[in-house]
Amino acid sequence: MSTDAHNLTPPNFNQFASDNYAGICPEAWQAMDNANCDFAPSYGDDQWTEQACACIRDVFETDCQVFFVFNGTAANSLALAAMCRSYHSVICHELAHVETDECGAPEFFSNGTKILHIPGPNGKLDLDAVEQAIIRRSDIHYPKPRVLSLTQSTELGTVYTPDEIAAAGKLARRHGLRVQMDGARFANAVAALGVSPAEISWKSGVDVLCLGGAKNGMALGEAVVFFNRELAEEFDYRCKQAGQLASKMRFISAPWIGMLESGAWLRNAAHANRLARLLADGLEKIHGIRLMSPCQANAVFAEMSVDTTAALRAGGWHFYSFIGTGGARFMCSWQTTEEDVQLLLAAVRRAAATSPSKEVPW
Ligand SMILES: *Cc1c(COP(=O)(O)O)cnc(C)c1O
Repeated sequence: MSTDAHNLTPPNFNQFASDNYAGICPEAWQAMDNANCDFAPSYGDDQWTEQACACIRDVFETDCQVFFVFNGTAANSLALAAMCRSYHSVICHELAHVETDECGAPEFFSNGTKILHIPGPNGKLDLDAVEQAIIRRSDIHYPKPRVLSLTQSTELGTVYTPDEIAAAGKLARRHGLRVQMDGARFANAVAALGVSPAEISWKSGVDVLCLGGAKNGMALGEAVVFFNRELAEEFDYRCKQAGQLASKMRFISAPWIGMLESGAWLRNAAHANRLARLLADGLEKIHGIRLMSPCQANAVFAEMSVDTTAALRAGGWHFYSFIGTGGARFMCSWQTTEEDVQLLLAAVRRAAATSPSKEVPW
């Protein structure tokens, strides 16, 4: 590598773009290093993978079946494909990652299963609307609803309460649907709610959870956790066919051991949540800035003028404004510091003070 490569990123890279901009946390790194001590069998037949599965079973207090894949798109789309036939449909929120950010992978891997997306405030499904979508039609011309997909925490940084998940689970059961949970940020929800992982997953009717690792502090990887073991039948073949069976599996499985045994997965999530809260509280006090959804996990969505947004970007700040319902999205991660938040708040204050406020009546 040329020495120039080290200079591509400025020393103070000001970013709240995504929690996947963060590096690998020490616990995950150490676990990968531990797994690097010697030869080990490939394709998941190694002790680290076995132990990682055991850790996940411990954390969820149940005998679930676990598969490790490279990313969340694969986890979601393969899990959905495992539950659906080509003429089925998946009901999800209109802002769900499976609908808006997976390039059609759920439809592709299930050979045509249709995604039916419905609205709901703050990124959460409105269960009445879900029920309407299920019962609206029962004829052969409509793609048969088969799965209810929930994102926890949601794409808008909100969190379903245990009661809401249980209600969704009951509704799904009543109509013969399975429940899949996109848990790219499941840890943030557990940390925010202070409940057991079991309570907001299988105890509330979730059949399959796609449990996020990358945004929680790992290098890569998500775990597909089947609480309903029947649905896991031949899932290993799906993973292999989709290019998701890692030959050196231990390097994506071992980090789960480090993260779960040390408690880092929840510490990291709680840290990110706390800083998002700090940021949200600060932003709310700035004239011309309005929060667009309640800050309940590690995301903050803020509405600000075009000029304020432009001034922040000109000042070197990185954040997305096309995700969710628009506005600026600021994500906190395990690596975000309180100083980062204070610097951003100071930058927003400066930017908002110098940009015209006539567009922002609040
Ligand atoms: C990040 C994310 C994923 C996973 O995305 P990949 O880039 O495929 O790993 C899945 N669901 C949600 C809600 C996400 O935010």
